[in-house]
Order: sequence, then structure tokens, then C-alpha cells
Amino acid sequence: MTRYIFRCADAGYQCSYEVEGNSHEEIIPKIRIHARYAHNLFEINDDQMKKFQEAIKEKKS
Ligand SMILES: [Zn+2]
Repeated sequence: MTRYIFRCADAGYQCSYEVEGNSHEEIIPKIRIHARYAHNLFEINDDQMKKFQEAIKEKKS
């Protein structure tokens, strides 16, 4: 099964946060919460969300 990983640093932040999941759908809500609390991003616009989505990578096991 493919696992996905998001590293905040891949989205351009100087931040060591990372989160894994089985799908983008599983990870994205966690990115939203992290962005809110760690980066004060209360409103994530489409451009920003695209950057986050593009930063999600498949994880080779
Ligand atoms: Zn972060």
C-alpha cells in the first residue's frame, strides 16, 4: 500500500513538521491544523493549498 508523507519544509517553511497517511485526503486536514497553529495560516487559499498538495510525496517503504 502506498503511504504518503508531507514535510512542511518541502512547502517552503523552516519547520521540521511532517505527517504521514494513506491518502492525500487523510493528510490534508492535518496540514490545515498544523498551518493554523504553527504558521498562523487561518485562511488557506487555493494557491497555498496547491503548494501543500504538491509537497505531499509518495513514501517508498
Ligand atoms: Zn510547519
